[in-house]
Amino acid sequence: MAPAAASPKPAWPVPRLLFKVNDMDSPGARKFFKHVNPSEALHAAVLDVFVWLYTAESVPRHVRSVTLILRSMDGVAYTTGSDLDEDHKEIHFSTDYIANVSDAQGTAELKGVITHEMVHCFQYNALGTCPGGLIEGVADYVRLRAGYVPPHWHRGGERWDEGYQNTGYFLDYLERKHGEGTVRAINACLAEETYDDAVFKKVCGHSVDKLWKRYKKWVAGDPDDEEKETSADKDRDEKAA
Ligand SMILES: [Zn+2]
Repeated sequence: MAPAAASPKPAWPVPRLLFKVNDMDSPGARKFFKHVNPSEALHAAVLDVFVWLYTAESVPRHVRSVTLILRSMDGVAYTTGSDLDEDHKEIHFSTDYIANVSDAQGTAELKGVITHEMVHCFQYNALGTCPGGLIEGVADYVRLRAGYVPPHWHRGGERWDEGYQNTGYFLDYLERKHGEGTVRAINACLAEETYDDAVFKKVCGHSVDKLWKRYKKWVAGDPDDEEKETSADKDRDEKAA
């Protein structure tokens, strides 16, 4: 007899997952099946979104289904509510794009795109007022944390809200620097109120401009003067005490 599990797994509300292929014989569909098990990939993407953005208590429960649709179209992928209902999500993924993904990158790129799009099915958007750069940054942050990093990604950028991997890596830095759950807390702030940059001050204690400056220094490998000052102050305070 198998021993009883030490603790029950959290009850993540995985919605019904559906899959449609417009042309099974297209090169993109063939390549997709070569690299990805759709059931496993969709399930894993949902769990990555839940783990990095929510807890079992805070996870949204209104999404009733997610359908992955492989079809010929321009671009890479996008996510939308279904024609019927916003609680039924559709991820459209281009078979023309998939056909041109290299075999070496196949699994990571296809699962990475699915994970990015799955974030859009569940993330908060400050009642529609969140800057697009932050929305896309949160999506690439989860892709990064899930381990599907494309070879061309690197830390950098000119502005914190440029979006995609530039904002994703910035959020990753905040999570390292300000503790586990930082990005979860930022996402939670976008649940019920309109957007304000003050979200960063509330969660991390500094303005987003200051956080971005410190991040750029960290990326460049420069010493963080302010951090030194803070620990010097702390030493002085400790001696005075
Ligand atoms: Zn996106």
